[in-house]
Amino acid sequence: MTDQGTDVGTTWGGTHRFEATRLHRPTSVDQLRELVAGLPAVRALGSRHSFTALADLPGGDLVSVADLPAEVTVDADGAGIGAATVTVGAGTRYGDLAPQLLERGLALANLASLPHISIAGAVATGTHGSGDRVGSLATAVAGLELVTADGELLTVSRSSHPDDFDGMVVALGALGVVTRVTLTVEPAFEVAQTVFDDVPLDAVLAHYDEVTSAGYSVSCFLPWAGDGVQVWVKQRVPKHSADAFEPMRELLGLPPADGPRHPVPGVATEATTEQRGVPGPWFERLPHFRLAFEPSAGDEIQSEYLVPRDRAVEALEAVRALGPMIAPLLFISEIRTMDADTLWLSPASGRATVGIHFTWHPDPAGVLAVLPHLEAALAPFDARPHWGKLFVAGADAVAPLYPRATDFVALAEQMDPTAKFRNPFLAEHLFG
Ligand SMILES: Cc1cc2nc3c(=O)[nH]c(=O)nc-3n(C[C@H](O)[C@H](O)[C@H](O)COP(=O)(O)OP(=O)(O)OC[C@H]3O[C@@H](n4cnc5c(N)ncnc54)[C@H](O)[C@@H]3O)c2cc1C
Repeated sequence: MTDQGTDVGTTWGGTHRFEATRLHRPTSVDQLRELVAGLPAVRALGSRHSFTALADLPGGDLVSVADLPAEVTVDADGAGIGAATVTVGAGTRYGDLAPQLLERGLALANLASLPHISIAGAVATGTHGSGDRVGSLATAVAGLELVTADGELLTVSRSSHPDDFDGMVVALGALGVVTRVTLTVEPAFEVAQTVFDDVPLDAVLAHYDEVTSAGYSVSCFLPWAGDGVQVWVKQRVPKHSADAFEPMRELLGLPPADGPRHPVPGVATEATTEQRGVPGPWFERLPHFRLAFEPSAGDEIQSEYLVPRDRAVEALEAVRALGPMIAPLLFISEIRTMDADTLWLSPASGRATVGIHFTWHPDPAGVLAVLPHLEAALAPFDARPHWGKLFVAGADAVAPLYPRATDFVALAEQMDPTAKFRNPFLAEHLFG
């Protein structure tokens, strides 16, 4: 087990320098259990893709599960739930799991915009891709193995913990250190993606349901300056192959883009996944970015607010009204959809959801000055901030957005009575 000394470094985006003084990397579950049992406080750290102090523990200890054994096991009738499942080390990156699934003829239903994120970290914050009929990544979780505050190894599933399981999945690291995750899988499938340039924002808003249902997974990118939206349509093939893009052509009267595109105007396209309707494996099309490249625009800050689908167009109009304030700070904004789920702290809990995402320039002061205006404009729509991205709302505003937040706090107090897994971020934004 290594201990990385006193500089734990920063988040992926360089947006937060960790104030924890030690990072442990146990290589066996027994080492992890001994560590957790012996420490007064500890936080799990994933692949550092959150933008805030969410995973941090000032002056304390962090632990990574990335060096635990990561073998992949497939169960054709996983956990007796009537669907195949795969169980994998929690620190595994989606991009490393995906080819192993394909070798076995399997797939996950969806992925986030990039494959570099750890499974446990993504699940813990309700990370999502896009798709009207696809849930966030955490909805694939059929079971978890975690080291709890007393150092015990606990295995949970919906059947073993029918009352609490929905509270244990999107858990922000507050219930224990997850060591293995069991995910529902399906037969492997292929996806073709096509990009449409300069779709008028008015047309997107007027036909929002048709636009987002034009593919299995649809993302709309826009800078909130001017009127052009770049629409990425990812379609499962061959089911819909020949006429995959007809709905968009008919609806918007636009041909697909004439070459590869990056969501951020002017950025080279080599890091983006194949477009122009060329079919390929699910994991090489559902993320926008390839595993082999460092994605996105480099140094950046991200924020995202998730609103109920039936208020999405109103919410987007409210953001549009702030365009002159937002646009100068923005690389790009992305709008995605997801199906409702039952997970207590999932941003899509209890409601079909639209995520309004912002990739900001690395200007913390500028972004922090705009966020209160953005949050005030989106408050009438019960906008839930993405747990892993930058937001300013405190617990008094955030907790009431989740009908089961009180139950989650009670579960955390029961499983972790000494608050071993809590930190100042959770106190400020959820526990109060
Ligand atoms: C370039 C980029 C692109 C992104 N794209 C998307 C996207 O498409 N969709 C989206 O929704 N979000 C996206 N995000 C946000 C990202 O998915 C979340 O912040 C996610 O939580 C990061 O996972 P991580 O492994 O880096 O976790 P970390 O940031 O390291 O930690 C996040 C949380 O997970 C907990 N955690 C981590 N590991 C464990 C464990 N083993 N046991 C218990 N708790 C654990 C931590 O304690 C912490 O609370 C993106 C972020 C970046 C930087």
